Amino acid sequence: MKRLYTFNAGDVAGLSLLRAELDLAGITYVTRNDGLFSAAGGIPVTECHPEVWVLENEHFDRADRILRDWLTPAKRGKLPWQCPECAEELDAQFESCWNCGASRPG
Ligand SMILES: [Zn+2]
Repeated sequence: MKRLYTFNAGDVAGLSLLRAELDLAGITYVTRNDGLFSAAGGIPVTECHPEVWVLENEHFDRADRILRDWLTPAKRGKLPWQCPECAEELDAQFESCWNCGASRPG
């Protein structure tokens, strides 16, 4: 098992986007510090750096290429995204959340 990527603190929206890409590619992975457990543990989400770990080492190179593509802004701009304010799932063409009006994160 290898760590693929560590997100900025609290970037749960980014984490969910990358997870969608890895799911599509059939790569098995686990996430840590994804904010789901911290609520119960009392650790503020803002102090959590979500991590993605690839389970199978032979998948890692492929996952790494997906990550690099995904980190390219043009590529990321074509993906659906999740509102950081209200967690609404939004299609790629929207630049702000129709539900609460929050701007799309960088
Ligand atoms: Zn919203």
